[in-house]
Amino acid sequence: MKNNILSFDIDQLTQYFKDIGEASYRVNQVMDWIYKKMVWEFYKMTNLPIKLREKLEEDFYIYIPKVLNKIEEYNTIKVLFQLEDKEIIEAVLISHKNRRTLCVSTQVGCSFRCNFCATGLMGFKRNLSSGEILAQILWAKNFLFERGENLNNVVYMGMGEPLANYEEVIKSIKILNSPIGIGIGAKHISLSTVGLVPQIYKLSKEKIPITLAISLHAPDNELRNVLVPINKKYPLEELLPACWYYSEKMGRRISFEYVLLEEINDTIEMAEKLVNLLKNKPAHVNLIPWNKVSEFPWKRPSILRIKKFEKFLKDKGINVTLRISYGEKIKAGCGQLRGEFIGRKKI
Ligand code: SF4
Repeated sequence: MKNNILSFDIDQLTQYFKDIGEASYRVNQVMDWIYKKMVWEFYKMTNLPIKLREKLEEDFYIYIPKVLNKIEEYNTIKVLFQLEDKEIIEAVLISHKNRRTLCVSTQVGCSFRCNFCATGLMGFKRNLSSGEILAQILWAKNFLFERGENLNNVVYMGMGEPLANYEEVIKSIKILNSPIGIGIGAKHISLSTVGLVPQIYKLSKEKIPITLAISLHAPDNELRNVLVPINKKYPLEELLPACWYYSEKMGRRISFEYVLLEEINDTIEMAEKLVNLLKNKPAHVNLIPWNKVSEFPWKRPSILRIKKFEKFLKDKGINVTLRISYGEKIKAGCGQLRGEFIGRKKI
């Protein structure tokens, strides 16, 4: 049976070449073709002996998912991919000045059911393999290459909870970060989690100091239990110490994602609570005005309310960035494009 070579990490490839009696430098050669030159047919890997190309052809394939739909608006392109088993995932490519950032999915659907998120409504289908995660990145790298541009950042913030698919996600990050893989520096890789505390401690041992982003969305347990139900298992008094531990070990500040919902979490009372949680901590807050998902009763706040909330945090010394997305057409926000395309039925 053939394997998808994108799901093989450096150790597995080294072992493979050893098993077939080839030198270990073949790993670098093959990875260079796949991840740097973006050549995805073994017969085109011209610095390999023909016999070896045939052997690779026999044992492996490279699967780049089919693009079902691509919607471009402002500085954002949403891509809907079909996987080998016909499951559908999405990735988002964002251009800002000379930076190109790809947001990748890590699962088909998601089991965490955050109460503002389109992906959560679909339920969970399966984890993506590291090869399926890397294939999204390769597609984007190639797409940008054809436009004369480079991919600079990758964020694990698309469909799914990355830390619930820990092994495959880490495997993909290692190839993404490796100089013989895609070669994107740890500072340019971010991973967003709802706050799976044991996995955050595990991640702090990985020695790749990526940016950790926490889907916070509420500054107290009472509201967070509603918006992000996993908070009942890992409440703020457990989550925040895990974040500060990660920050200390990795020397990175923590990003806190905060989706703004009118009259729910955008009041000055909530802003005060947020300041109390994060004041004098290595923290950065990303404020994200909510994009409507019809199944939820929430409203996107007015720009006046958004600015007031942002100013309050800034005045109290919190590092904050307002991330306005123009997502009406592209349905920005995790899972929203896929939901529109296939119908937001449970999977
Ligand atoms: S916000 Fe993330 S973790 Fe929560 S339901 Fe959506 S995809 Fe899952």
